[in-house]
Amino acid sequence: MSNTENLNVLQSTQTVIHEALKRLGYSDDMYELLKEPLRVLTVRIPVRMDDGKVKVFTGYRAQHNDAVGPTKGGVRFHPGVTEDEVKALSIWMSLKCGISDLPYGGGKGGIICDPREMSFRELERLSRGYVRAISQLVGPAKDIPAPDVMTNSQIMAWMMDEYSRIREYDSPGFITGKPIVLGGSHGRETATAKGVTLMIDKALQKKSIPLQDARVIIQGFGNAGSYLAKFMHEAGARVIGISDVHGALYNPDGLDIEYLLDRRDSFGGVTNLFKNTLTNKEILEQDCDILVPAAIENQITSENADRIKASIIVEAANGPTTLEATKTLTDKGVLIVPDVLASSGGVIVSYFEWVQNNQGYYWTEEEVHAKLQIVMEKSFENVYNVHSTRGVDMRLAAYMVGVRKMAEASRFRGWI
Ligand code: GLU
Repeated sequence: MSNTENLNVLQSTQTVIHEALKRLGYSDDMYELLKEPLRVLTVRIPVRMDDGKVKVFTGYRAQHNDAVGPTKGGVRFHPGVTEDEVKALSIWMSLKCGISDLPYGGGKGGIICDPREMSFRELERLSRGYVRAISQLVGPAKDIPAPDVMTNSQIMAWMMDEYSRIREYDSPGFITGKPIVLGGSHGRETATAKGVTLMIDKALQKKSIPLQDARVIIQGFGNAGSYLAKFMHEAGARVIGISDVHGALYNPDGLDIEYLLDRRDSFGGVTNLFKNTLTNKEILEQDCDILVPAAIENQITSENADRIKASIIVEAANGPTTLEATKTLTDKGVLIVPDVLASSGGVIVSYFEWVQNNQGYYWTEEEVHAKLQIVMEKSFENVYNVHSTRGVDMRLAAYMVGVRKMAEASRFRGWI
């Protein structure tokens, strides 16, 4: 095991940022500025639970760098949230915004909680409490939250309502991923998955594999994974494996995606309805053409990288592959479309939502998709060109493309 394998997500991100800045010719001062978020707020949120008792939750909001513009990024509700994870996620948001050339820096938030064990009203009180706790730090021209793991448009609606009450004016541009009736954008709900399908198309072209009957395995059946399964199935690919928090289903002839989508619960659980399931680890190692990790961090590691059979990996989750595994797979000839590129569809359409809110004029779903496609196909080509001309792996190439604008903006502002 190499020395990068034991790093946590923040440390491994810092390793790649450092390398990317060096390759671009920046001094170590720039790395000192960009290796950590500019601001991280820790908050304690008291919530009256349905049984009458008060429970105090811990939450975070990290703002990585605001040289380019306001910071942008989701809020996750998960029992495993840590400060370092939120920091790393805020850096990844900066990279996604840089790669997509959005006028934002990266931000991220998280609350240590398990929404699967909370009632609707408890979740509302937690969401509103979080906004009250971070309200001084956020706003439509400061830092714009959005959905992430286990948060959704309903939670965005409560947060927007709470923020509007605090400011005493309607503030749809404070948050993205809202329901359509509250200023949400058409196409935002499906944006991450749509973006992943665009990246799969590009990767298949590079590998000269036809989409028709291409065998796809998707780890994770949440917002990204479930819509992706639907789109891949509709496009004629064969979805042969899916998984959720309980386990995984695999059938080399293809799964009944319509049935699975129909039976899926609101947190993406469906495999608990079946016997003979595989584990989340086993599903990654099954034979397929395209593997899409669409769940959480550190799924493909030095331990299992050798046994991965896919020739294309498209990372819909944030941070699913370790640096050591990236190297093993790249050496084997696997084409990896890294998270900061592959999962940028969400934040790109969030940007479109914010633009629509600011101008008060709304676009059709077709317009949103067409604009998303233009941005993501350009991003892919930019990253792929750096990968092939500079001889670096796709992850490092994506970091090089993603960090440049932020570094330049910081320099022009005189910060370095
Ligand atoms: N949470 C999503 C991400 O990790 C979307 C963020 C956003 O829309 O601002 O990219």
